[in-house]
Amino acid sequence: MPAIKPGSLVLVTGASGYISSHTVEAFLDQGYNVRGTVRSTSKGEYLANLFKDKKGKFEYAIVEDIGKDGAFDEAVKGVDGVAHMASPFHFNAEEPEELFTPAIQGTVGVLESLKKNNPNVQRVVVTSSVASVMDSNMKPPHTFTEKDWNVVSPKECEEQGKNASGQAKYRASKALAERAFWKFFSDNKPPFDGVAINPPLVLGPIIHQCDSPESLNTSVAVYYSWLKGEKTEKDLPAGGMNYVDVRDTALAHLLALTVPEASGERFITGNGPVSGNEYVLEIARDFPDLKNIPKGNDDASFRKKLNTEAIIHDGSKATRVLGLKYRPVEETLKEMGQSLRERFNF
Ligand code: NDP
Repeated sequence: MPAIKPGSLVLVTGASGYISSHTVEAFLDQGYNVRGTVRSTSKGEYLANLFKDKKGKFEYAIVEDIGKDGAFDEAVKGVDGVAHMASPFHFNAEEPEELFTPAIQGTVGVLESLKKNNPNVQRVVVTSSVASVMDSNMKPPHTFTEKDWNVVSPKECEEQGKNASGQAKYRASKALAERAFWKFFSDNKPPFDGVAINPPLVLGPIIHQCDSPESLNTSVAVYYSWLKGEKTEKDLPAGGMNYVDVRDTALAHLLALTVPEASGERFITGNGPVSGNEYVLEIARDFPDLKNIPKGNDDASFRKKLNTEAIIHDGSKATRVLGLKYRPVEETLKEMGQSLRERFNF
């Protein structure tokens, strides 16, 4: 049973990303030291500056392409735990391999590098997704748990190749990468163990380097379009997405590396459904000066109906085993809106 304690060195891959920058912060705040992999010196320096006054120490290592053989051979040396978070998240791939190669090779690659250069590492947590869990053909009401696996998207990609939908390509990349993660453990029986975190849509404030709205990560970009008044009443109620706060997701990764009972487990980190209707109600409440925001429906029974008719990704195991508590949706949406307005000055 691993016991990664404050003072240990944790490798966070793709540290410049939306969720990973919060994850680095969570570790540093609790006195862990972090080595983050980034693609460029400028991304590394941004983080070094952001985290210069933290309790733990931050350093960075350049890994330009996680899909290359041996990409992590140097970065894994001397670390006690790993949060493997780097993976492309978008729905615009032409060929499935554009996503599959970095997702799968990146995941197996970090494990192979550990086996070769640092078998004394205690534990690896991989950022998977509810994309690895869900069946997109399922109609609500339905609840998914950690026992479920997405077999539909890999099949769609196998059968349709580049003609598969953009969502299927992304979801399959996550499902196949998580399968490859667990297969590595059963094939190799390494001295270290693994945990998977499976978040739904991740929302909340941004702290990573992001100079323009066009380069926002996929999940925050969805909310940003509502905040900017780019959607209309016709787009409402837009229900059905499950979500989690980015800071709760970050903490889930920390807990996954430090709670002994997490060993070998998957954890959905879902805080229930959220809809476009909730976005616009919250935007109207928090930012009454913003114009062109479609009017939401504040009727309590309508809002309840939206939630009961949604697909649920059950996040209760993360609370039970990891002790993860979810913050209220109002806090997540308000603080995400504030951070985006500050960053992009509107
Ligand atoms: P970001 O795009 O913000 O972060 C992705 C990170 O991975 C970036 O640091 C990116 O580097 C890096 N990366 C991607 N491809 C490569 C590559 N080929 N070589 C090296 N680095 C690479 O996305 P998120 O923070 O949203 O996502 C992080 C993880 O969480 C992903 O694994 C994603 O699948 C998963 N996830 C996200 C959810 C969400 O709603 N946001 C929900 C569920 C899971 P760079 O910035 O330099 O391109």
